Amino acid sequence: MAGCCNLPSNWKDVVEHPTVCPKCGLEGVRIDARKLKEILSGDNWNLVFKPEEYCRCLNKTCSVSLFSRVDNMWFWNQDLLEHARWKEGSAQNE
Ligand SMILES: [Zn+2]
Repeated sequence: MAGCCNLPSNWKDVVEHPTVCPKCGLEGVRIDARKLKEILSGDNWNLVFKPEEYCRCLNKTCSVSLFSRVDNMWFWNQDLLEHARWKEGSAQNE
């Protein structure tokens, strides 16, 4: 399932670094809003408020695939449609 959390203690950092993965701390890559809709299942898409603010986390060892520090939301590898997952075999340790 997708995760959501309260305002992090480092929220100022979040505002200055909106493309940094909240889980592993590495720089993510912006994803197009249209592409985001293509790869998320309908249920997960319904959780997205600002699709233009989402990034991919490309760190293979990180269990987060997509995140938005603006929405304060993230998606796991398994929240993506199966053909669209770019972290096949990554740890699902959460
Ligand atoms: Zn990450």
